[in-house]
Amino acid sequence: MKENTSKNIKENGKLFIDWVEKYFNEIEGYPVLPNIKPGEIKEKLPSKPPQKSESYEQIISDLDEIILPGVTHWNHPKFMAYFNATSSDPGIFAELISAAFNTNGMLWKTNPASAELEEVTLGWLREMLGLSKSFWGIIYDLASTGTMHAIVAARESLEDYSIREKGFGGLQNKPRLRLYTSEQAHSSVEKGAIVAGIGLEGVRKIPVDEYFKMIPIELEKAIAEDKANGWKPFCVVATIGTTSTTSIDPVKEIASICKSENIWLHVDAAHAGVAAVVPEMQYILDGVEEADSFLLNPHKWMFMPIDISVLYTKHKGILKQAFSIIPDYLKTDEDNEVVNYMDYGIQLGRRFRSLKLWFVIRHYGTDGLIEIIREHLRLGKLFSKWIEESPFFELLAPTPLSTICFRGVPKKIQSENELNLFNKTLMNNINATGESYLSHTILNGKFTIRVVISGIRTEEKHVKEVFEVLNNEFIRLQ
Ligand SMILES: *Cc1c(COP(=O)(O)O)cnc(C)c1O
Repeated sequence: MKENTSKNIKENGKLFIDWVEKYFNEIEGYPVLPNIKPGEIKEKLPSKPPQKSESYEQIISDLDEIILPGVTHWNHPKFMAYFNATSSDPGIFAELISAAFNTNGMLWKTNPASAELEEVTLGWLREMLGLSKSFWGIIYDLASTGTMHAIVAARESLEDYSIREKGFGGLQNKPRLRLYTSEQAHSSVEKGAIVAGIGLEGVRKIPVDEYFKMIPIELEKAIAEDKANGWKPFCVVATIGTTSTTSIDPVKEIASICKSENIWLHVDAAHAGVAAVVPEMQYILDGVEEADSFLLNPHKWMFMPIDISVLYTKHKGILKQAFSIIPDYLKTDEDNEVVNYMDYGIQLGRRFRSLKLWFVIRHYGTDGLIEIIREHLRLGKLFSKWIEESPFFELLAPTPLSTICFRGVPKKIQSENELNLFNKTLMNNINATGESYLSHTILNGKFTIRVVISGIRTEEKHVKEVFEVLNNEFIRLQ
């Protein structure tokens, strides 16, 4: 029999810690995006599980030979696609300890330390963001989950709907529910509406201005029109840092509309919210104080391994009312004195995610985190300036943070269709070099290349190198 406990953990663990150190030392040598075809990894893996124990050395050897060549390196300093999710050393260590404890924090009793550390670290984070104590926080896995919970809480807050009890089928002659979000909002808003039974027809997209921000007057008009047509407006989702351009909706004005209409306001700041820890950036959260709920993802721009997302709400009681169901076997003597986080969402079991906040914030200190994010913002402005001054490229959106939206504009191409094709090819060529990984969006019908600078390993030299690759590929292609 092989041992099934943690014998030799120091010796065996060293293999993996060494592996991680080597990986980070060599990461810049790997192509950011692997050059493989669908099915290539599967082909190299046995179709049956091993019957006999295999050594860690064998596992590591296959990790190097089979898995590594198929990995997209999100931790690479020149990964600039989507929104970064990079992991710092303290974040990685926190995951290790979390796995070692392997607690299930459904109740305070099933891990008091997890429940209380979550409360304390979310208090720290709230203070770092400059938000008031009227917000209560909870950790979920992802922003999509947080937004879905906010939409369900908004639904629960409606008097005389009782959807929790009756379901939508139990409603008689009640106006249908309508949720508002901008044309630039993340698709998770629609997914949340699907899950909450609002349906895609219940989601009304509000137009944006030339800077891709929701237009408050259009929101006001839509609400008035819907009410006249027998809808019940119940929720608005505003975005701070939209996925395509990081535009920032005018939350203050939106909040005052929501207040006068008695509508729940949820603010999705999954990527950008973290930037508000930088004092001169705190303005991006203007108006959030008036919202009913607000979320951000520490796993995106706060250097914690995916996943950790935080939802703050002023209506802890409504969230609980929406989700709490306590079977007899989960009742404890402390229920009246403590927070049992299982009461505030669909998941019963919960990982010990607050360790990541605790380790990372303590390791860097708030000063350290501010410094890293401030540098990203500086590099974002720099890259944006290079694009603006280049004869080859043009900016397609403002750069409020460190995401730059642009395209190549070769002199000989005039038609929009050809420009779109040119830029798509330009981006694909760059990604094929393995030098960097960039992603795209479509803005007003224009194929737009995005460069996102928010990775913990990204420095000025990397940003310069990406700009050089862009220029070289542009010249080759034009
Ligand atoms: C990334 C992102 C999401 C989705 O995040 P997940 O945590 O992957 O669910 C939602 N909204 C915005 C604005 C985002 O940037």
